[in-house]
Amino acid sequence: MIGCSVAFELLKAGKQVTLVERGTLFSEASSASAGMLCPQAEMLAAKTETIRNFYRVSGRIHREWTRSVEEVSGRPVDYRQDGMIRVFLDHDLADSQFQSIEDAHLLSELTKLSPDEVRSLEPSITEETVGGILFSGDGQLHPLRLAISLKSALARLGCRILEHTVAHELLHSGHDVIGVRTSEGDLFADTTVVAGGAWSSALLKTLELDVPVVPVKGQMYAVRSSNVKLTHVIQGFGTVVLPRLDGSFTVGVTHEMAGYDKRVTVAAIADVHKQLCRGIPEMKHAEFAASWAGLRPGTPDGLPYIGHVDGWDGLIAAAGHYTTGILLGPITGVAVRQLVLGEEPLVPLDEFRPLRAMQMA
Ligand SMILES: Cc1cc2nc3c(=O)[nH]c(=O)nc-3n(C[C@H](O)[C@H](O)[C@H](O)COP(=O)(O)OP(=O)(O)OC[C@H]3O[C@@H](n4cnc5c(N)ncnc54)[C@H](O)[C@@H]3O)c2cc1C
Repeated sequence: MIGCSVAFELLKAGKQVTLVERGTLFSEASSASAGMLCPQAEMLAAKTETIRNFYRVSGRIHREWTRSVEEVSGRPVDYRQDGMIRVFLDHDLADSQFQSIEDAHLLSELTKLSPDEVRSLEPSITEETVGGILFSGDGQLHPLRLAISLKSALARLGCRILEHTVAHELLHSGHDVIGVRTSEGDLFADTTVVAGGAWSSALLKTLELDVPVVPVKGQMYAVRSSNVKLTHVIQGFGTVVLPRLDGSFTVGVTHEMAGYDKRVTVAAIADVHKQLCRGIPEMKHAEFAASWAGLRPGTPDGLPYIGHVDGWDGLIAAAGHYTTGILLGPITGVAVRQLVLGEEPLVPLDEFRPLRAMQMA
């Protein structure tokens, strides 16, 4: 998602772009993702006003960005801003979340829901609910549809796409990064952007840069149920559920430190399903449709790395988007384009400095 989003913005600005991909584009974390677009939920969790604003702007530009991808490619991405409901089964959690809406000054943007209001919006939710929060600006897209659409848009814009090509090492002359050594030979560029998801650290290590990104495994599955009707993305009782346009539901998700292991386990899926049935009892009778896993690019502080790498000219990092890379793809693409063209940034990037972990050590 991140490399493709950066390429999309740079190509539209008239730049020549080469994408180097070890496998096939959009096949790792990005295709495994749920496709939730929840800027408002992220705003509620944000630790600073700058980060809150970053998510606000991310949400604002996503619709226009997806339209632009659809226009260039001629293919839909199933973007829907139908809202997200966070459902509570526990009074303490509900009270603390309601309080955080006030603390974050988000009362005008988010809606507290009583148990009756939750059930009138979503009758499939258990009668045990003690309330919820409506994030009306949140929504979803279908990651696999986005993959097809974005890849086709990149091809139409003239992107040079080198799949099945491994980037081994960053090439430099003094403190200028001049390109990358790949399995197919050396490539030279004015600017090299590292957007390798959970594998980004290794490439930056070739310049002895310590930019920690760790894989955080997420397992998900899909079910069908004619008895359950949902119109919003539902989060709560330890799960997320996304109603898809084809009538299926995407359910998740685990957060596991399991290295680069992407196997799906019965235990994890059974555990998530048990949680799901607490919140949506009719899911007990759902028909299993599919399962998969992916590796989120996690960072120690949960924030991405977006920006020039201090001490090196011609090198930009765009990595570590952890749980929100599908939401943050467009804003990352715009931010990198602005860095490359020397434009005024749409959002401040100080909190996302690539070397912040090294500088604090
Ligand atoms: C189960 C799950 C659910 C998620 N749900 C959501 C969600 O609902 N909403 C949301 O916003 N985000 C979600 N995420 C997070 C989101 O998917 C990621 O943040 C995002 O996909 C990261 O994009 P990326 O391009 O950085 O990484 P990736 O998609 O992993 O892409 C990195 C690419 O770099 C390539 N690469 C790496 N090293 C090299 C090399 N040396 N040479 C060549 N190629 C290389 C890899 O092959 C890979 O294709 C979810 C993630 C998971 C796993």
